[in-house]
Amino acid sequence: MIPSLMPTYNRADLAFERGEGAWLVASDGRRYLDFGAGIATSSLGHGHPHLVAAIAEQAGRVMHVSNLYRVPQAERLAARLVEASFADSVFFCNSGAEANEGMVKMMRRAQAATGHAERTRIICFDGAFHGRTLAMLSATGNAKYLSGFGEPVPGFDHVPLNNMNAVRDAIGPTTAGIMIEPIQGESGVNAASVRFLQELRTACDEFGLLLGLDEVQCGMGRTGRLFAHEWAEIRPDVVSTAKGIGGGFPLGAILATEAVARHLTPGSHGTTFGGNPLACAAGNAVLDVILAPGFLDGVQARGRTLAAALDRLVAARPDVFEAVRGHDTAAGLMLGLKCRVPVAEIQAAALSEQLLTVGAGDDVLRVVPPLVVGDAECLEAAERLSRAAERVRPRAVAGRAPAMAAS
Ligand SMILES: *Cc1c(COP(=O)(O)O)cnc(C)c1O
Repeated sequence: MIPSLMPTYNRADLAFERGEGAWLVASDGRRYLDFGAGIATSSLGHGHPHLVAAIAEQAGRVMHVSNLYRVPQAERLAARLVEASFADSVFFCNSGAEANEGMVKMMRRAQAATGHAERTRIICFDGAFHGRTLAMLSATGNAKYLSGFGEPVPGFDHVPLNNMNAVRDAIGPTTAGIMIEPIQGESGVNAASVRFLQELRTACDEFGLLLGLDEVQCGMGRTGRLFAHEWAEIRPDVVSTAKGIGGGFPLGAILATEAVARHLTPGSHGTTFGGNPLACAAGNAVLDVILAPGFLDGVQARGRTLAAALDRLVAARPDVFEAVRGHDTAAGLMLGLKCRVPVAEIQAAALSEQLLTVGAGDDVLRVVPPLVVGDAECLEAAERLSRAAERVRPRAVAGRAPAMAAS
């Protein structure tokens, strides 16, 4: 018989009762080190007193009023994001996919409003992940996710990442813009190079296209800058973000320049829940923490500690791990471990060591702890991964005998 909770996920048989910082406590009392952070979402970890108090306090006053009225919490959050970023204006929504849908709508609308209604197509990249709505499935372009859901929504072209010739070849008279994750998360922590991002900006300027960045995962401090594109020192036209922005409370945002945002006139786009007082109270509390002086520098420092520990792990166990992904372009806490064994095996072994991680494509293990993690916890996670490596059956590496697997 089908479970009453629709079985769209392969869930671990594990439930958590409470958490504190980078730790989660399961219903059987066992403590897990959380280096998955609810898929790079619990940016302040678990039970962060400031976030908890902000949500509780706002919930007690008023949670939701609709966007028919002013929402001071949203006005404040938008003003702070504008102050801290390239953007002139912000739209709030509830999820990453919804933010990306809105981002594509804004790109098309800005083209249409400036005399280019024919420019509707968006150039996307192989290995992209933009969400599970019908249009974002098309933008994602992954055949596995599209299967059985009928005709893909038209308007999305795919080219290889970090290949400027392919991008230039794909640009045509109906191209509206380019949508790219500065660091692809789901497909295996693949970074767009700084140079590639800069060349995309140049090409967009040359052809009158809009550059839209999907920073749903890599944004909001994950890489040690508020947004990952800051490492490339480019100014995008639109950026979507979600995951970490609410610290676990559902919230998404689209940040845009005035040139794009001014075409989103009253009635042209909307959402019932988006930017409600409760969600924005959470967003403001998250910003209080990540914009505090020195916090993002700390994320970079923790990122260096973690990356170095993972590098040592790869050097010690080349039969299990191939490389560390993510720390070549942008630092921070969005790292991947490319595995020589199926990633599900390593992930399960890590779980046995009471370490939570997230699988990604290309047999990459995502290591994405809360941004409030400490150095000692980063070293502890690497230690647990080393023990996890003992649990899997290693593969032979040319020129080196496989290490003996304990047990
Ligand atoms: C998770 C993710 C999405 C989708 O976000 P949802 O909140 O699940 O809709 C889109 N883009 C990227 C880069 C993501 O990591």
